[in-house]
Amino acid sequence: MMNLTDIATVKLLLERHGFHFSKKLGQNFLINPTVCLRIAEMGGAAPGHGILEIGPGIGTLTQQLAMRADRVTAIELDQRLLPILQETVGSFDNLHVLHGDILQYQIPELFEQEFPNMPVSICANLPYYITTPILIHLLESGAAFESITVMVQKEVAEKLCADVGTRQSGVITVAVHYHGTVKLLFPVSRGSFLPPPNVDSAVIQIRTEKKYDALTKNQPHFFAMVRNGFSQRRKTLVNALSATMGYPKPILIEALQKLGVSETIRIEKLPMETLIALSNLLFEMPLDKNL
Ligand code: SAM
Repeated sequence: MMNLTDIATVKLLLERHGFHFSKKLGQNFLINPTVCLRIAEMGGAAPGHGILEIGPGIGTLTQQLAMRADRVTAIELDQRLLPILQETVGSFDNLHVLHGDILQYQIPELFEQEFPNMPVSICANLPYYITTPILIHLLESGAAFESITVMVQKEVAEKLCADVGTRQSGVITVAVHYHGTVKLLFPVSRGSFLPPPNVDSAVIQIRTEKKYDALTKNQPHFFAMVRNGFSQRRKTLVNALSATMGYPKPILIEALQKLGVSETIRIEKLPMETLIALSNLLFEMPLDKNL
């Protein structure tokens, strides 16, 4: 098996294929063997399990996943990497490489095709330019997976792991905590990548858990309220939701009073249970202007 964490080997491979890194596609390939191994082991790559990998690059993490899991499906957007992947990981008969954009896939259908009757986890060294859209796409897909274990930019890791109701939180914090529990697994230095990125990184893990589904009257309304509230996070929640969703201010003030919350509160101060309770109250109220 080719040693894809050896810089000289990788440089020769890329040269032979005339490959140049695309900054636009977030191409920073892992060259740290311990990091790949830890993502694979902690990310659920094990006998009896399937793994979806997003953006296999030249196959460095893919090798570790395919050595451990029963089945690996890897989706790569950059067509230039397909012949390289054929050379580096083409000999794994439990690996299926698909060419495409992860955001264009219907994840439940993909799972049905690729992993029938098999528990699935998702692993990736994510392209940083679309970290949030990818996480939202996976979490809101309705697909049943056990966990998402991914490399992200350190600041994003901190935002994901922040508590809902604190200043560091945002839409993605609420989305991640709504769908599961999240923890920071370990930090990763810039020197672990080729080429090294301009930012520090960390591996985080989201384990899916349906904690809040039963409490929420209407999930699309809940997330619309959260998105709209955070789109004007410096304003009071009353001002933000009246401007973005068309709720009359007296209705918003009444709903907050019912929940024992000050009418001058900002969305970033509200914990998950209060956000859900507020959405439940507002969802029942008639609106002039809709979502
Ligand atoms: N997994 C490899 C590794 O760790 O060395 C490569 C990781 S690199 C940070 C991100 C990879 O995602 C690149 O190979 C890039 O071409 C690919 N990519 C970027 N956007 C993508 C998308 N929308 N869907 C699928 N893959 C994408």
